[in-house]
Amino acid sequence: MSNHPHGELRQSQLLTTFGVGSMVDLPDHSVLISGLNHWRGYENHPIEEPRLAQRVSEILNVPQIKLYAPPAAESDPNQPKTGIPVFEFPNWVVAQVDQTYRDNSGKTYQTRPLLPRKRLVKGKYENEKRKKFSVVPVRFVQACRYGHLSDIDWYRFVNPECGRNCPAQLWLDEGGTGNDFSNIFIRCEQCQKRRPLANALLKGILGYCQGDRPWLGKFAREPHPEDQPEMNSLLVRSASNAYFSQVLSVISLPETDQKLRDAVTAVYDDLEEAEEFAELKVFSKSKRIRKQLEGFDLKLVWNEVQRRQKGEAPPTKTIKQAEIETLLSADEVGTDEPDSQFYAYVRPLGSLPKVLENKLERIVLIPRLREVRAQVGFTRFEPQVPDFDGELPEDNLDLKVKRAPLDIDTSWIPAIENQGEGIFLHFNQDAIERWLDREAVKGRVQQLRNGFNLWCKRRDIPRDQVKFPGSAYILMHSLSHLLITAISLDCGYSSSAIRERIYGGNSGYGILLYTGSSGSEGTLGGLIEVGKSIEQHLLRALDLGRLCSNDPICSQHRPTDTHEERFLHGAACHGCLLISETSCEQRNEFLDRALVVNTVSDSETAFFPMDS
Ligand SMILES: [Zn+2]
Ligand SMILES: [Zn+2]
Ligand SMILES: [Zn+2]
Ligand SMILES: [Zn+2]
Repeated sequence: MSNHPHGELRQSQLLTTFGVGSMVDLPDHSVLISGLNHWRGYENHPIEEPRLAQRVSEILNVPQIKLYAPPAAESDPNQPKTGIPVFEFPNWVVAQVDQTYRDNSGKTYQTRPLLPRKRLVKGKYENEKRKKFSVVPVRFVQACRYGHLSDIDWYRFVNPECGRNCPAQLWLDEGGTGNDFSNIFIRCEQCQKRRPLANALLKGILGYCQGDRPWLGKFAREPHPEDQPEMNSLLVRSASNAYFSQVLSVISLPETDQKLRDAVTAVYDDLEEAEEFAELKVFSKSKRIRKQLEGFDLKLVWNEVQRRQKGEAPPTKTIKQAEIETLLSADEVGTDEPDSQFYAYVRPLGSLPKVLENKLERIVLIPRLREVRAQVGFTRFEPQVPDFDGELPEDNLDLKVKRAPLDIDTSWIPAIENQGEGIFLHFNQDAIERWLDREAVKGRVQQLRNGFNLWCKRRDIPRDQVKFPGSAYILMHSLSHLLITAISLDCGYSSSAIRERIYGGNSGYGILLYTGSSGSEGTLGGLIEVGKSIEQHLLRALDLGRLCSNDPICSQHRPTDTHEERFLHGAACHGCLLISETSCEQRNEFLDRALVVNTVSDSETAFFPMDS
């Protein structure tokens, strides 16, 4: 174990690229970020976000979860050690020897000794003439669908018969650069067996997974049950599929639901007898009850009373459902005070440009907004990220991979908070539903759905295990990307500084754009200014959507096109809709500008048609 200067890693990266269980190349060695059971010094920075903590405890099936910010590096050597330890991994290295090997056909390879770290002498490889060479960690390791990770047993790989009994030197022969596995061979000096790395891709060659979880510690093995063995698969350490962080995020909301419940509790004895809404209205005229219920919508009070009368549990809302319901609940939500985490108010619509009329329904400016992001776990080989409701899919092997844990017994997880500001745009439900009813739109949506079905098929994921977002979501999402681009062009925002949250469910259709940073950068009032003239930016966004520099190719693209394999795109490419990955909540997928505006190829499917 070693403590490295992790201050170089930004806090947010400790939840994503360099999270627990990820493999990181440092200048002189390569390491594995340790599990939370090894972290120190985080206790001083708790983050309070009950809604997120509650959801995570449900997902992890533990009674309680706390959130803490990742510890910062302690620069003063006299202070107790804080921080995030790392473990050396992998344990096999390649010596930087400059030699070539010629195979039977005369082809030459660069060849280097491949050996376990324990055979090094003072960190160096020593050849038979006692000459010393520096080493680099081997690029290839093995993992299983549960995220377990270990070194490949290279002796066994080269020669399953002699295996470990062949103590001779192994060599890595490379017939080119890069990861063309058929050009990379492992060779045993003694028995002269030689095997292409491409063989490691064949099922079963790397053997059964023993359940190693080296990020949690040497003895944190979690063996697979005998009747459910898992095979190891080859993993390239630096490849993008070596690690996918699972991050859940919420916008901190004032506890309106809880306040309402408390108020109703205080007067429930009097309200319990109410049999209809009219009766409740009469009851609530009494001075005492009126005082308790002041500021609450009586309809919401009635819902709460009925819920109690029926003995039902409080409704569980998805992460995004709670957010959009709060954003739509009143003309002013939260308070504009220095330690307030949420303050939002409705901006009058005024007279809208014709193309937005009866479509844009509500503009909410949010001068105070806090987003909390927390890492729940991670996967390897395939990502497992939040869906359109902001929720993680069920952790189930039908989705090809299972979540790996951050701790042996998880009682807390790392989180970060971003303070910022935002704009929320709410679109007219009836207008969207009328648009969805149009034949041309239905046809387009069917194409997008067919593309999605093909995408599931390619990845061998049962269709019933994943949700199609629906066309209203894709409409909102595509418009959001155009708007982010328009705002960054007009106002000099870097496009990666603005994030999106798309609401496309039953509780309403909307787009939240927000800035956020752990410092104060996000709260300079810039986005609120943008919101004051958001119509102009929306017009610019629609303009940007009509023509792409890659048209007509871009507008003609069909999701079902098997040559391009862009199954989750309609008319969308780098020339028009794709934005910085940090801004997008869906990894730049589920986009189609033909749903938003007329393109050179489609004019029947636009929600904002040119001629209106
Ligand atoms: Zn051998
Ligand atoms: Zn395993
Ligand atoms: Zn394009
Ligand atoms: Zn996006």
